[in-house]
Amino acid sequence: MPARILTLAPHAPDPAAIREAAAVLSGGGLVAFPTETVYGLGADALNPSAVERIYAAKGRPVDNPIIVHIAEAEALGRFVTDIPPVAQVLIAHCWPGPLTLVLPAAAVVPSVTRGGLPTVAVRMPAHPVALALIRAAGCPVAAPSANRSGRPSPTTAQHVLADLGGSVELVLDGGPTPVGVESTVLDLTSDPPVLLRPGGVSLEQLVAIVGQVTVPAPGAAAPSTTAPELQAALARSPGTRYRHYAPRAKVVLVEVPPEEAGAAPSAAALSAAVHRLWDQGLRVGAMVTAEAAFQVPLGAVVRVMGPRGDPAAVAASLFALLRELDDAGLDAIVVEGIPEQGLGRAVMDRLRRAAGQGGEVV
Ligand code: AMP
Ligand code: MG
Repeated sequence: MPARILTLAPHAPDPAAIREAAAVLSGGGLVAFPTETVYGLGADALNPSAVERIYAAKGRPVDNPIIVHIAEAEALGRFVTDIPPVAQVLIAHCWPGPLTLVLPAAAVVPSVTRGGLPTVAVRMPAHPVALALIRAAGCPVAAPSANRSGRPSPTTAQHVLADLGGSVELVLDGGPTPVGVESTVLDLTSDPPVLLRPGGVSLEQLVAIVGQVTVPAPGAAAPSTTAPELQAALARSPGTRYRHYAPRAKVVLVEVPPEEAGAAPSAAALSAAVHRLWDQGLRVGAMVTAEAAFQVPLGAVVRVMGPRGDPAAVAASLFALLRELDDAGLDAIVVEGIPEQGLGRAVMDRLRRAAGQGGEVV
């Protein structure tokens, strides 16, 4: 059955719509809703059969655990067995907000929600619709991104409908999500904490708050390149192993060499990537910063991600542009790499994963 869609004012959600959505969750159903990061596909986190429906709807591997969303920081103590001082400091600075904390799970959290792990990932989102829904439902809400597994995350209700329209009861449409990339996932069962996924709270912010954060090397899922304790941490975050963020088109990410970190890819490098794909007979699109918009060879479909010095703007447009160029029927998308500062780290993480699956990093 096609999903019912309720359109809401993001800052003053209609209580009747929230009540209707909460009733769907209480009845074991699925509701897609906006958060400040991306749209989530929600179910009652304490109802195993409801959570099973999330995995089925997304086609998500069952050992990839789901983030549990709460509406008050005080609720955390019901779902974890230990709240170390570092968690309290991070919560004071970052909640509500795009920071997910991994902590030892209390027995009340079903195994299916945790992907079978002894830990649970919890966050308090900073979006009035999400908070109102969780409060009205009266339960913690398990919610991964509301896309088919492997696809770019949804930043609008239309993206949700395109991927999951047939398998979700209700979609709350609160407009485009402001951050545009998912939450930062931080494992607090290790000391210092381990950055399992860069996201909406930057590494610089985390370091300013807690002093030290362990950052696995890019591509650290490869065991031979990783210290044993990091291997263990990455094994604890199964989501890092799976295909992710990929449009149908091949993604070619144009990076700068590490020794030139912070510089922009040259016009020649962008142009060469486009020409090489044209030579293969492919239809080519390009996602570039405002500064590079006129460096793309004429004839490629160009979309501007945002100014080069504004990674938050790039993050906000990233997934929507990947989907838009995909829908335009292009075979390949050349993407300009941006510096890994602030949200730039999350942007480059998503782009490397998108390009790592049949695409290329050049
Ligand atoms: P998504 O729900 O699609 O935003 O992805 C959630 C991310 O959090 C995935 O990378 C999961 O593997 C990760 N995650 C969720 N729960 C845990 C946990 N208990 N331990 C480690 N990582 C987790
Ligand atoms: Mg996801």
